[in-house]
Amino acid sequence: MEVSQTIRRPHAVAHDAQQLQEYEQARQIVLANPRNASSSLFKKSFIFIPLLGMTLLFWVGLSPSQPSISSTDYRARTDKLLKTTPLIDGHNDLPFLLRMQLDNQIYGDRLPFREKLGSHTDLRRMKEGKLGGQFWSVYIECPDIVHLDDPTHNVRDTLEQIDVAKRFINEYSELHYCDTASCAMKAFGSGSIASMLGVEGLHQAGSSIAVIRQFYDLGVRYITLTHNCDNPFATAASTVTMTGKDGGLTDFGRAGVEEMNRLGMMIDLSHVSHRTMRNVLEISQSPVIFSHTGCYGLAKSFRNAPDDVIVQLKTNGGIIMIYFASKFLDLEHPQNANVETVADHIFHAVGLAGWDHVGIGGDFDGTINIANGINDVSGYPLLMVALMRRGATDEDVRKLAGENMLRVWRQNEIVALRLQKTEGIKPAEDRWEGRVQVPYQGQLPTLIPGY
Ligand SMILES: [Zn+2]
Repeated sequence: MEVSQTIRRPHAVAHDAQQLQEYEQARQIVLANPRNASSSLFKKSFIFIPLLGMTLLFWVGLSPSQPSISSTDYRARTDKLLKTTPLIDGHNDLPFLLRMQLDNQIYGDRLPFREKLGSHTDLRRMKEGKLGGQFWSVYIECPDIVHLDDPTHNVRDTLEQIDVAKRFINEYSELHYCDTASCAMKAFGSGSIASMLGVEGLHQAGSSIAVIRQFYDLGVRYITLTHNCDNPFATAASTVTMTGKDGGLTDFGRAGVEEMNRLGMMIDLSHVSHRTMRNVLEISQSPVIFSHTGCYGLAKSFRNAPDDVIVQLKTNGGIIMIYFASKFLDLEHPQNANVETVADHIFHAVGLAGWDHVGIGGDFDGTINIANGINDVSGYPLLMVALMRRGATDEDVRKLAGENMLRVWRQNEIVALRLQKTEGIKPAEDRWEGRVQVPYQGQLPTLIPGY
């Protein structure tokens, strides 16, 4: 069981340069020792083998006479490449099911996670699907309130979701909690499924940048700027669908984006309005993600990313992780959406931005309508096979599966290190201008006379 390093950090300090280097070491070891082949060797190697020796290991690992795989044996190619490249899904809502259906009580016989569950995700099917890493969404519903400063239970409920997600991860030895990209690579190399946290909407931060910082300290590594409601930071796609009005990112939202860059908290543009996407891409110093989204060019829902935004990922360095939610993949005939429809969206994004800017964010357990043929988390290899059948190379599929996600995550860590250590930027103290301070009626000593 891993104890989060961030919990011991008093002020959300970025990782140091040495921690960043660990990623490359971990990657070389995984390449030399394919997953499941010698997981114990991985652990020993990681401690004792210096970087110089890894090059040797790399070649030794490749040299044994392994039976060659036919280029048209797509399943064998998929199985082989997913032994050295982690397949990382950007978004899974299982923690929300734990809340809504089990009241976050997960122990004993209440959650037969090693056996088959009725939903999309359990351990047996995760292994079948060759999953190497998962961002678990610690989502709570958008508030239905009149004024944005009205009190809500959002922060409390989000803390409960972070709590239940961590307890869930710790309960299963097959899962390994991670808050760095190097940890995810090491966990994968050890045969575990790296498990990370993402918050799905800044409504969960209680209109407070300080709360964003505390989420980072608790291990959250991406935040979606909105869910299906506006908040003081940004406009949601659903608002544009309902009203036709798109206010984009607010001034407070700009401060929030700058702080997320400074922290190394990845910015997720799923669910936000198109203007919000464009506003963020103008100012973000770090690559962004779409943790679960499709292409507006193929399905004209504002929930999907438009072509010009996907093109901009090339300069921003970010990724769009395509989902399997059929109602957004094919608006006219969602019941017909299948693995080929998902492949259509991936190839559309690739045509605009290239294989360096795509990923997978299934949205499993967050919707009942999943593309036909994929059905649940055991279905990822079917998608890889479909992509290869259309001409995707092993290198293309490796990028899509997880290399791109890890690159974006590492880049966020590197930018945070620069902003905090090199540029010495302090935590943002901006407040939403509509924020009301709870009054205090008693007498207090004067902190600064005359202020
Ligand atoms: Zn969502």
